[in-house]
Amino acid sequence: MRGTALRQRLAELRGPDVPAKALDARALAALAANPGCKRRAILDGAGVDKAALAGALGSPSAFGQSQFALTRGNAFEAKVKADGGAELLRLVHERLDPAARPPVDAAVPELSAIGPEGRTARTALALREATAAAGGWTLLDHPMLALDVAGSAAFLEPDAVVVHPDGSWTVVEIKSFPMLDGSADPAKVGAAARQAAVYVLALEEVAARLDPAPRVRHRVLLVCPKDFSNLPTASAVDVRKQRAVTSRQLARLTRIQDIADALPEGACFSPELPAEQLTAAVESVAASYAPECLAACELAFHCRDRSRAAGAVTSLGRSVRAELGALTTVEDVLAAARGETGDPRDPAVAALRRAAGLRAEALEAAAGAEPPAGLWSVPTPAAGAVPACR
Ligand code: SF4
Repeated sequence: MRGTALRQRLAELRGPDVPAKALDARALAALAANPGCKRRAILDGAGVDKAALAGALGSPSAFGQSQFALTRGNAFEAKVKADGGAELLRLVHERLDPAARPPVDAAVPELSAIGPEGRTARTALALREATAAAGGWTLLDHPMLALDVAGSAAFLEPDAVVVHPDGSWTVVEIKSFPMLDGSADPAKVGAAARQAAVYVLALEEVAARLDPAPRVRHRVLLVCPKDFSNLPTASAVDVRKQRAVTSRQLARLTRIQDIADALPEGACFSPELPAEQLTAAVESVAASYAPECLAACELAFHCRDRSRAAGAVTSLGRSVRAELGALTTVEDVLAAARGETGDPRDPAVAALRRAAGLRAEALEAAAGAEPPAGLWSVPTPAAGAVPACR
């Protein structure tokens, strides 16, 4: 199954007339963080709206920004990009390329086209033209980039890409969380860096098709509101580490085509279907639940319930899972600890038995021990010392 046939199969999985949900860089970064999860890979690859699916399964996700936050974020981005992106380009010049000439009369090419493929081609052309006409600044506002994810194209839309006078390219991320005294919430900066790293990888695919290939900068510009105002400020963020990790994880994703081939005939993830049918379709694809899913995937509550019901040790965390080796369920672990199953030469089994022995000894000692002096020696009040309730 290749190209058109795969696209057709993915559309069937999504459901008749259900539009594909575009994969954004945030979703891709989260997907790359759990490369062993075939369930997420096929749902994202097919463009399934996982939030709607989770709702239809009866385990709605706790994801999504409030309307207020979205409106605030959009207003801030519009402010940053006003006047042909003058303020944004000033920040890029100041934080990333102060030796270059100031960004006056920057070009802002039109990038509209039909469909994501058309917009991707238009962006690639604009990047090629801007790089060839080196010497000036160019701002690409909401360009469209494509990245191969597990054998299927994912379309990504960074907030902006800037072409420098030396022909190098920079990714710009605009966020609405504040930068206080020059620093922002590290967790939010980390998430923004992971998203930007995905854009850097996608830009590198475009650059690789040009001769000579332009340099894609690994320091991106993060633009945020300054303190508690609506004024933009910016910081350069080095995403080399995030880029390397994401690239490695994306390469490990099972090919979407292989997962689609293994699905039962007629499987469909349309949120319009009855819950039992949807549950069967979702359960037909292997998942790899870990508590980290709660912060990264809309299906987390559903997968957590299933994982707990199956007694899977993954619900206790990846580190616990790794320590337990071949023991994959809580039942297996308890049986091994009791000495009923398991090879005693297995280090996990040996450690469990040692721990069970120590626990039994401690309980025995506690049961036979004298109570610590004073702890249980509260004198019982003499009869009649407590007045009767009336
Ligand atoms: S919540 Fe479920 S589908 Fe999502 S990544 Fe975790 S295991 Fe996979």
